[in-house]
Amino acid sequence: MEDNKEEIISKNFIEQEIDKDLSEGVYNHVQTRFPPEPNGYLHIGHAKSILLNYGLAKKYGGKFNLRFDDTNPTKEKTEFVESIIEDVKWLGAEFDDRLYFASNYFQEMYDCAVLLIKKGKAFVCDLTADEIREYRGDFKTPGKESPYRNRSVEENLTMFEEMKDGKYKDGEKVLRARIDMSSPNINMRDPVIYRVARMTHHNTGDTWCIYPMYDFAHPIEDAIEHITHSICTLEFEDHRPLYDWVVKECEFENPPRQIEFAKLYLTNVVTGKRYIKKLVEDNIVDGWEDPRLVSIAALRRRGYTPESLRMFVDLVGVSKANSSVDYAMLEYCIREDLKLKRPRMMAILDPIKLVIDNYPEDTTEYLDVANNLENPELGERKVPFGKELYIEREDFMEEPIKKYFRLFPGNEVRLMNAYFVTCTGCEKDENGNVTVVHCTYDPETKSGSGFEGRKVKGTIHWVAATTAQKVECRLYENIVDEEKGKLNEDGSLNLNPNSLTVLKNCYVEPSFEGVRAYDSYQFVRNGFFCVDCKDSTPEHLVFNRIVSLKSSFKIGK
Ligand code: ATP
Ligand code: MG
Repeated sequence: MEDNKEEIISKNFIEQEIDKDLSEGVYNHVQTRFPPEPNGYLHIGHAKSILLNYGLAKKYGGKFNLRFDDTNPTKEKTEFVESIIEDVKWLGAEFDDRLYFASNYFQEMYDCAVLLIKKGKAFVCDLTADEIREYRGDFKTPGKESPYRNRSVEENLTMFEEMKDGKYKDGEKVLRARIDMSSPNINMRDPVIYRVARMTHHNTGDTWCIYPMYDFAHPIEDAIEHITHSICTLEFEDHRPLYDWVVKECEFENPPRQIEFAKLYLTNVVTGKRYIKKLVEDNIVDGWEDPRLVSIAALRRRGYTPESLRMFVDLVGVSKANSSVDYAMLEYCIREDLKLKRPRMMAILDPIKLVIDNYPEDTTEYLDVANNLENPELGERKVPFGKELYIEREDFMEEPIKKYFRLFPGNEVRLMNAYFVTCTGCEKDENGNVTVVHCTYDPETKSGSGFEGRKVKGTIHWVAATTAQKVECRLYENIVDEEKGKLNEDGSLNLNPNSLTVLKNCYVEPSFEGVRAYDSYQFVRNGFFCVDCKDSTPEHLVFNRIVSLKSSFKIGK
């Protein structure tokens, strides 16, 4: 009983509506869809919509369709269709063979329009777009009826057919629903449902020169596919009466119902296809999959996993109120996902040489290192160690500041997985920059040898110089800095000049043979990194930093 109660409480408002519909017999199954317009790449907001729709279908034993809402040929491209299919599959939202194109329903939509005309519920209107806008009125002023509103059914049928047959110029005539010009809801004031537009469509070519408007097409698409719950974002709330009108007047049996939820917005990143598109077109970023973007392709390239995005979407939940989610929450999810799954390697991003003066020349020792301290299942590997190592430049200070426990002359530290070393000094170039750090080691202190002598406060990581592989690492910051304002006064994006740092002289242990694009690792102290899918080659490995290791984000805060 207790369990049952908890389950009810944890249901979101959409699930509660679905439960109600099923118990009242409004529907006897659940069918959802994700209806992208193929006019750009998908982003994190779409991931939410995909996983929400797919998750509902799965939860209720129903089906989930992927349907391209390709009724507006101006901005649509096959490239986008392909990328969207790839992204939906990658997220794990299975649509099986249910891949549909709204453009395949153009004939049915046309037939629905003819039905409306026959019922006196639609008319051909000759007003220009400007006049239609003027006649429509606004929140305070009721609309004015079009002088063409009372054309006869016969005249409307003929003219609509002529529209289809190409007798009129683009914009010369439209078909409008005949609803109510005095409705308090402006969407109900005789909305345009078909327009003349000579455009070549990516699927139907030049077959049609009239195209349906979104508010008319979408409910018909849903109804044809027997969608039960048409889930969309809040801006369509005011369009719901029109949605209901269309499915009712077009006489669909068991019509779908629309339910709205709030869009997902993230801080410090650019969501919204329009802005992403602009960054891509202005060559500010490296295409739609630049790792600084939050398109799904970009997140994948950066090293995010489908599991991490699913966790994120679950954590965010669904709501009826618009709000922004902290980007740090996304970072929390990828850390959580990778921390037990991926090996922890040593990599030096900003190298400086450390020479162990009392270590034998030409000797390589192979040390046993656990791949993941928190997950023994990942096993161990051998890591070479020698006289010359690379360490992080910041791990040495000739004159240490307070509470600095790493290398400085006279101080002893632990080399991770290896020995204790004591710093003896450094070499510098003519400009006073440190070039080499010297130290001596204590052979008795080998890690794993059971040595329990002195305590040291600092542990630093390293990579043996002779066997090291030189690699490139790319570090990212947010592309816009929200604290300074996302937009400049002129409306352009306020870009962070430090959003990308390329480090070309990084060193990793020689354990990266055979790595493939998208493989990810924890680099000790430096964060999680992923092999870049575009620029990395076996000879020149390129890693993207997915996320650093620490965060201020705490779940439940
Ligand atoms: P954008 O505003 O980025 O251009 P869109 O809404 O125009 O996106 P569509 O391809 O029309 O993109 O949307 C496909 C589906 O994704 C729609 O059901 C839409 O409501 C949903 N969607 C779009 N953006 C978000 C978001 N930020 N959060 C949740 N769902 C979204
Ligand atoms: Mg859109």
